[in-house]
Amino acid sequence: MKSSDTAAAAAPVPNPFDASVVVTGTPVVGGLAYGPVIRVGARPAFDADAPAIAEGERAAHEQAFVDAAETVGARLADRASHSTGVSAEVLTATAGLARDRGWISTATGLIASGRPAPAAAAAATEKFVEMFTSLGGLMAERVTDLRDVRDRVIAELLGQPEPGVPTPEVPAILCADDLAPADTAGLNPDLVVGLAMRLGGPSSHTAIIARQLGIPCVVAAADLGDIPSDAAAYIDGDTGTIGSEPDESVISAAVALSREQAAEAAAWTGPGTTVDGVPVAVLANVADGVSARTATNSPVQGVGLFRTELAFLDRATEPTVAEQAALYREVIDAFDGQKVVIRTLDAGSDKPLRFVETDLEPNPAMGVRGNRTALTHPEIRRGQLDALASAADGAASVPWVMAPMIATVDEAREFAAQVRDRGLIPGVMVEVPSAAILADAILAEVDFVSIGTNDLTQYTMAADRMSPELASLTDPWQPAVLALIGMVGAAGDRADKNVGVCGEAAADPLLACVLVGLGVRSLSSAPAASSAVGLKLGQVTLEQCREAARAALAATSASDARDAARSALG
Ligand code: PEP
Ligand code: MG
Repeated sequence: MKSSDTAAAAAPVPNPFDASVVVTGTPVVGGLAYGPVIRVGARPAFDADAPAIAEGERAAHEQAFVDAAETVGARLADRASHSTGVSAEVLTATAGLARDRGWISTATGLIASGRPAPAAAAAATEKFVEMFTSLGGLMAERVTDLRDVRDRVIAELLGQPEPGVPTPEVPAILCADDLAPADTAGLNPDLVVGLAMRLGGPSSHTAIIARQLGIPCVVAAADLGDIPSDAAAYIDGDTGTIGSEPDESVISAAVALSREQAAEAAAWTGPGTTVDGVPVAVLANVADGVSARTATNSPVQGVGLFRTELAFLDRATEPTVAEQAALYREVIDAFDGQKVVIRTLDAGSDKPLRFVETDLEPNPAMGVRGNRTALTHPEIRRGQLDALASAADGAASVPWVMAPMIATVDEAREFAAQVRDRGLIPGVMVEVPSAAILADAILAEVDFVSIGTNDLTQYTMAADRMSPELASLTDPWQPAVLALIGMVGAAGDRADKNVGVCGEAAADPLLACVLVGLGVRSLSSAPAASSAVGLKLGQVTLEQCREAARAALAATSASDARDAARSALG
């Protein structure tokens, strides 16, 4: 039996199902699943040093390449048309890469000079990889998509099976290093019932899609290779364990129980409250009008985070005040009269916007991002606040407006004045440790705060939230992160003002109880997570949440904090 969590290496790895090999990782989506292991198909093999093609044959090779790229693009677009939400967006974007004229003409140019088509596809891709990497941020993340498209096109050219996720005949557990976005987006949750990744963090692409689809998921399981490929395996998304060849009758009974619990969660209708009646608003994170309207089908009580920058990622120029106002109004109207928290642009770092130009920075996560872009582009924030005021005019509710990346009391005061001037409700995000440490003074300036646990964890642990290698550090269960959240919760209590959480931590039912115990009174996450969180909160008292929070705070590692909270809550 092996543990991949070095911090917990001395502790025995739980093996309740009597598996022959158990490995551990970071749990991201709860639930238990069991089935044969499947692995992602290998990348196509081709001869990179194949001789140049004869001049007379080059045109045919060019055509073969164009046809292969179109076949791959059409296949991805077809999968997009059978998907919804983030999945459809990812598949459409990846299909766009396969059909990208710049990429195709670079490759056909190389073929025209004699390069065999597979080698030309690979060389053209590397050119774009270099370009995307130098642009940084979200563009750099698209490198995985580019390489995925390359492999699909080369396989098509060579008549080899499509790389990526195979279609299993029975419900299976998918094990991989990490999944390409197009693979995660195309997952069928009836056939892929569990996801185990060797890499990837709690906010990786795989984790986000697994959460959306409700597939039990464990990431950063370093020893995943120890699970034999032809085994039957289980994945426990609550404890973060994966085990091969468990006792079949024991695991089958446990999976049946887990399904019953999932069905019970699906029937939860809200509103959020502890069993002893402490209200905890369960809210949705949204990205535009469509996702807000879709979120109304989940048992959420409003929007806890509208990431406005996501609506403008494809814009080269700043949207007008009228365009922005129409978009914001769509989201406010979707939740007619309910709470809607809108965040001003969080541009920069991992979400660069072309119309918010910044100098190339050596360390963009620590640079001019979030509210700091108002230093270099005050007119953009002014325009956005004007648009928000215009959207609020005549709406059924006054939006709560918050700024990202606030680090000082002065920043909070200056932002609050701008928001109040426009008749809106001001708040700030707590994502930088300094804001948590000065929470009392910050809450004196604003009407509410919302803790962004993704960035708060990144900055507290000095660990890049996108790094697959650092997943055990970028875990919001880290006791240091919980301690900062506790400081903010206590300050909220003293000021009698709302403290919410809108990072991925709010999607974890067990952690949700700990957050409530620390003083958090609203939880906003992907709508798909809302019912499991709401159900769990409805089974515990405030005192039990406080006890779980005390136990987690006393732990010295993320995995111990999780275990301590779980046993405190029984
Ligand atoms: C966060 O940092 O937790 C957060 C909600 O903001 P984002 O993920 O958009 O940076
Ligand atoms: Mg953030």
